[in-house]
Amino acid sequence: MIQSRQKLGVDSDFPCPLCGQASQRWQQQHGYWIRDCGSCGHRFTELLITPDHAATVYGDAYFNGGGAGYPDYLAEADLLRQHGRRYATLLKRYRATGKMLDVGCAAGFILQGFCEEGWQGQGIEPNPTMVRYAQQTLNLPVQVGTLEQLQGTEIFDLVTMIQVVAHFSDLQQAFATASQHTHSGGFWLIETWNYKSWMAKLLGAHWHEYSPPSVLHWFSPNSLAQFAARYGFKEIDRGRPAKFIKSGHAKSLLRYKLQHLPAGKLLLKAIALIPDHWRIPYPAEDLFWILLQKQ
Ligand SMILES: [Zn+2]
Repeated sequence: MIQSRQKLGVDSDFPCPLCGQASQRWQQQHGYWIRDCGSCGHRFTELLITPDHAATVYGDAYFNGGGAGYPDYLAEADLLRQHGRRYATLLKRYRATGKMLDVGCAAGFILQGFCEEGWQGQGIEPNPTMVRYAQQTLNLPVQVGTLEQLQGTEIFDLVTMIQVVAHFSDLQQAFATASQHTHSGGFWLIETWNYKSWMAKLLGAHWHEYSPPSVLHWFSPNSLAQFAARYGFKEIDRGRPAKFIKSGHAKSLLRYKLQHLPAGKLLLKAIALIPDHWRIPYPAEDLFWILLQKQ
C-alpha cells in the first residue's frame, strides 16, 4: 500500500535522497507532498516506500489505463523502437556495439531498437505482463524486477535508463547497482524530465510530470550529472531527444491534467476531436538525455 505521510511526516523524516540534507514541503499534487532539498535543490515526493511499491504503481493499469501512465503502451511500439534506434545511432560516435542492459524496459521496444543497431541487449522490468511480451513476442532476454533486485554478475558496456530514474524508490541503491554492473569505460544513457526547463517553470504545479506517486524525483541535467559523479561517472554529452508520441497518449495526459481546471472541460471537448493515431512531435524542451562514462 502506498501511504503519503502528510499527517505523520515531519521534515526530519524526509532528508534529501541525493545529499541527505534537510528538505521542505513545496506543494501538494494528487494528494502527495512534493519536497525540495534545502541544500542541493533536488525535488522529490514525500512518500513512505513500501516493498510492493513498484508492483502496485507499475501494474497493468499503468500501461493501458491512461492517467499519469499510458492509454495503450503497445500502440506506441513503432515510435519506441525508432527511439531506441535513434539513441543507438547517436551513441555510435562513442561506442558502436556491445552488451547492454535496459532498465525499466517495459515491453522491450526501445531495447529492440538498440538490438536492431547491433547491440546485444538484456532488460529488467517490474511489470510481469510487459516482461512476458518482451520474452514471448520480441524474444528478448528480460527479467522481472527492479534495478535494485538485478540478478546475476554480468557487467555491461552500456546501461540505459530511459524515463526511469524519476521512478526509482531508492536512488542511491539503484545507482550503486547500475555502477557495479557497468565496465570501467562503459556508459550510462539516461533520459528524464527537466524540472528546471521553461515548460516546467511556465506550467508550475500543472506540469504533467508532477504526477506522484509514480514519479518520485525531478532532476535537471546538472543535478543528475553531479549525482552520477558520486558513482564514478563523468558527463560526456547531453541533449534533448527528438521524440514522437501518439496523439491518443497526449490526449490521455491532457485529460488527466485538465479535468479539474475551470476551462478544462471546454479544452477537453476540443481535444477529443483529434484522432488517437496521429504521430505528433513532442516539443521536448522539458526532456533531456545525458551520456555518462565510468572513469
Ligand atoms: Zn539534496
